[in-house]
Amino acid sequence: MADLDVGPAFRLDWVADLPVLRARVLELSGIRHAFTTRHHPARDREVLWALGFDPQRVVEPEQVHGGAVVPVDGSTGGRVPGADGLWTDRAGLVLRVRAADCLPVLVADPRMGRVAAVHAGWRGLAAGILTRSVGVLREAGSRPEDLRCAIGPAVGPCCYEVDEPVRRALGEWFGAFRPGRPGRWQLDLRGVGRAQLIAAGVLPEHVGVCTACTACEPQWFYSYRREGRTGQLWALVSRV
Ligand SMILES: [Zn+2]
Repeated sequence: MADLDVGPAFRLDWVADLPVLRARVLELSGIRHAFTTRHHPARDREVLWALGFDPQRVVEPEQVHGGAVVPVDGSTGGRVPGADGLWTDRAGLVLRVRAADCLPVLVADPRMGRVAAVHAGWRGLAAGILTRSVGVLREAGSRPEDLRCAIGPAVGPCCYEVDEPVRRALGEWFGAFRPGRPGRWQLDLRGVGRAQLIAAGVLPEHVGVCTACTACEPQWFYSYRREGRTGQLWALVSRV
């Protein structure tokens, strides 16, 4: 298996002979998390059990590329319509988002014993979903300086060309757009995500970004931009 450079904020771990990505900022007592790779079989229950998550307690947002982040307590069923982000205080509840180029973002508040999982593509970021994620946690009593945020594998600026309407919708984020072909830009989606979290009050050293590009690493990741309709990687987080 070829090596994968995930950057200093992440590390490659092995569970049941399969590689998973761990964000160093989320390696906290009382929090369990994982980012899967393409090496995981499409057998939900087995993968979840192997990673230490109870398949019966998985909750995920519908993922409509919107800006809604909602609390869950396990009473709503496995899928929350209209949401792109979920958060919970409940131990054992497993929050999952799926992505193939978009940002999978996991958040933990170790002081409050609280976790969140958010799916954010350019539309979600334009709708301010990461700003809102910090906002809803703050309204529920979290302090932004306590939050630990991990941005998992996503498409890098190397492989993400966007046009003027996308640039206008996202607004100005320093360094996020590098000029490309005429009328086009190379977008650093992860950079926008990180900037949005920091602007909302998260400490820079508490935001861990995976530097691997989903479109550059076909052995490791699924990529919508490279492959069109494809599988999806999971980001999972739970309070244990
Ligand atoms: Zn790339």
